[in-house]
Amino acid sequence: MMNKYELKRTLLDFFFPNRCPVCNKVIGRMDYICNDCADKFQYCGKEETLCGGRLISVCRYNSGTEPIVLGAKRNRDGSKLSFMAYTLMQKITESFDTLPDVLLPVPIYRTDKAKKGYCHTEKICREISELTGIPTVTAVVKIKKTAQQKSLGREQRLTNLKGCFAVTNENTLKGKHVLVIDDVTTTGSTLTEIYHTIENCDPAAVDFAVFART
Ligand SMILES: [Zn+2]
Repeated sequence: MMNKYELKRTLLDFFFPNRCPVCNKVIGRMDYICNDCADKFQYCGKEETLCGGRLISVCRYNSGTEPIVLGAKRNRDGSKLSFMAYTLMQKITESFDTLPDVLLPVPIYRTDKAKKGYCHTEKICREISELTGIPTVTAVVKIKKTAQQKSLGREQRLTNLKGCFAVTNENTLKGKHVLVIDDVTTTGSTLTEIYHTIENCDPAAVDFAVFART
């Protein structure tokens, strides 16, 4: 008997053959990467601290992993979104003895989501939820359109983000061990701003997990 998650992947595979997120070769419906690329894929062993919590990452952001991130962010590439979710799930389950209570995706601005038709971080979180049972809470929204972080210096990055997020559902965070999820982090300023946005909701703990670390 297939579970719901397996059934979903099987149906998806029928319409969009599952592909390797790195080399684009067709792979099995329940696979996440081809064997050749799996051998070469470099995981990141480093763990850091951020805002008093833990910051864990799956891999480094480089020419090898950039196409995965961009395909997931811009083109709704299902194989890439699933690979990011699956590897994050592995990282989360191996890093935490007691799993976090909720997953909080770093939100994108409303009109950006409408234009793309989806929010990549939310999609990644929802798939981690299917794999782990940890619920995804979209308790924070982005209320201000901001300049692209990569065009700015460290100081400007923080000012650029000031007040750009707002909490919409305090109850889903209160007393919870929250794991904030993003695709990439460079200086950690987006994650820091999320932390300052939610700290007044009295979460029990806040940790951070990203797919790629610059
Ligand atoms: Zn491959």
